[in-house]
Amino acid sequence: MNNGHTAFLNEVASIPACDKINECVQCGVCSGSCTTAEHWEYTPRKIIAMVRAGMKDEVLNSNSIWYCVSCYLCNARCPRDIKPANIMHALEAIALKGGYKPPTKTTTMYRSFARSIEKNGRIYEFGFMLEYFLKTNPFAALKMLPLALSLLTHKRMPLLPKVVKGTDQLNKMFHNITTGGSR
Ligand code: SF4
Ligand code: SF4
Repeated sequence: MNNGHTAFLNEVASIPACDKINECVQCGVCSGSCTTAEHWEYTPRKIIAMVRAGMKDEVLNSNSIWYCVSCYLCNARCPRDIKPANIMHALEAIALKGGYKPPTKTTTMYRSFARSIEKNGRIYEFGFMLEYFLKTNPFAALKMLPLALSLLTHKRMPLLPKVVKGTDQLNKMFHNITTGGSR
């Protein structure tokens, strides 16, 4: 194995809860359990094999890691306690840090979701989805209009945000997370 191969593997293995990646026996239970794997360019099992083979660009340019929906079935069922879900999210962070451009809209959704929490202290569904659609595909919002109207009419989704107390503390937490703790 050359240095490029081991550097990527070591980078992943050094992230908390990803340290057992080398103990994967490629049984495929994670891929068989994964709720979204049919949409992945490479299944979770393959992604783990590719990380171990040092295929950094192929892994970080693929759509696979971005389709993990954190159902944690893979973590619960993995016979070697590898925690594939944690590895997928670690790879997302490595991809963003490394300037890779995700081939999905997942990051826009993550950011809209986080902004909604940061501002209101809880998710404000209407505002969060509106922001997401305006940034990705405003026409898709039109298709969702009947559902949104039904939810609003049945009081299943508030039109205005309900802000919790202490959002200033929450903002400090967000700031510390995004800056690594420096203020
Ligand atoms: S279930 Fe665990 S051991 Fe099996 S392929 Fe997936 S990560 Fe590897
Ligand atoms: S946590 Fe992610 S990788 Fe694991 S089974 Fe669920 S969607 Fe698939």
